[in-house]
Amino acid sequence: MRYITILGATGSIGTSTLKVVEQNPQQYSVIGLAAGSNVEKMIELIDRWKPKYVAMACPEAASKLADTLKLNNLDTSVLSGPEGMCQIASLEESDTVMAAIVGAAGLLPTMAAVKAGKRVLLANKEALVMSGQLFIDAVKQYGAELLPVDSEHNAIFQCLSEKVQTNLGYCDLKEHGVNHILLTGSGGPFRYTEVKDLDTVTPEQAIAHPNWSMGPKISVDSATMMNKGLEFIEAKWLFNASEEQLKVIIHPQSVIHSMVQYKDGSVLAQMGEPDMATPIALSLSYPDRIEAGVQALDFTKVGELTFLEPDFARYPCLKLAIDACYKGQHATTAINAANEIAVDAFLNSAIKFTQIAMINEHVMNKVCEQYGSDELDSLESLIELDNISRKFAVKYIEENLS
Ligand code: NAD
Ligand code: MG
Repeated sequence: MRYITILGATGSIGTSTLKVVEQNPQQYSVIGLAAGSNVEKMIELIDRWKPKYVAMACPEAASKLADTLKLNNLDTSVLSGPEGMCQIASLEESDTVMAAIVGAAGLLPTMAAVKAGKRVLLANKEALVMSGQLFIDAVKQYGAELLPVDSEHNAIFQCLSEKVQTNLGYCDLKEHGVNHILLTGSGGPFRYTEVKDLDTVTPEQAIAHPNWSMGPKISVDSATMMNKGLEFIEAKWLFNASEEQLKVIIHPQSVIHSMVQYKDGSVLAQMGEPDMATPIALSLSYPDRIEAGVQALDFTKVGELTFLEPDFARYPCLKLAIDACYKGQHATTAINAANEIAVDAFLNSAIKFTQIAMINEHVMNKVCEQYGSDELDSLESLIELDNISRKFAVKYIEENLS
């Protein structure tokens, strides 16, 4: 039996995780559920899953939830605020934590799970992008077990040997025969849109992903391909890969979820329906396999698989994120923070789709220029740089884009 806590339980990954648990009731028990502010959804989840603990990051939501539970005589403990998120991430009663908060808000709770030595199922890529080596070192130092949930990284994980799987972030890929890691991406909803028309696309169009159903932030990131850029950085840390070992390939059908190219000419790919239940199931059950409730690929219906190089004129955010990866931690922390502000502004119709890249570029360069020589040797210093980057992004929007 595994005892699991889900951070981001009300979101897209949280929902898929509970669907997988539902398929395997003998093997998993839900101990803790945490979310931002959606009280109604959390009440539904408590009713269904009867967790011992819940946490809401928003203190008002937590007290509203606590009042409702009291009225109904339910004895679930309610934890509150960022502290409550860290407490629920490190519960003694739980051995497995799904880290599926969106954005930098997930860093401290995810680190709390790492520091408590849990099996950490990492969906929250922004936490790793923002903290890099520090995160990977903490996994080793505290004896945590890290499993990638992001479908590409889960695919790559499945194509690597057990030695690499059980020592994530530390193996020399070359020594294990790996030449390249091929990260595939669908290209999002605008892969056939004229580049000149990208100026006028709406948030509704941007979040309508052709192959995957996901939360709003990652959907916009998929449309700009910033998501693939963040995944490039995520792969560098998870697999201890050099930038030269990582390649991005557009694969519009999303049948292959990523590949590993070995020195003998072999290329291993992981394939399946585009459903996050598959990587979530593997991260829960590794090294075994469980039911995920996902139908098998029907190769007679898949049709053609095609592949092409990404066009950086269409996807400037992808280029910027790869550049950030080469530049180092200041740049990756800065671009991740800037992107969160920019995507939020785009979703609120305050800026154009194409201005997301402008904000990311401006903030990354400014932070590297002004703070590039500062030490980034603690979580506090990373969070401070994240805050500075957010302020630069807000200022740039106010002064140039509104
Ligand atoms: P979502 O928007 O559907 O859900 C986000 C969750 O985070 C919600 O439960 C929300 O309540 C919670 N949350 C938001 N702000 C919070 C805060 N300040 N403090 C605590 N909790 C907060 O997002 P999602 O699509 O489920 O994505 C979650 C993470 O997983 C992201 O990092 C994303 O990049 C990653 N991911 C998602 C998918 C996918 O298919 N959805 C695939 C790969 C990786
Ligand atoms: Mg992904």
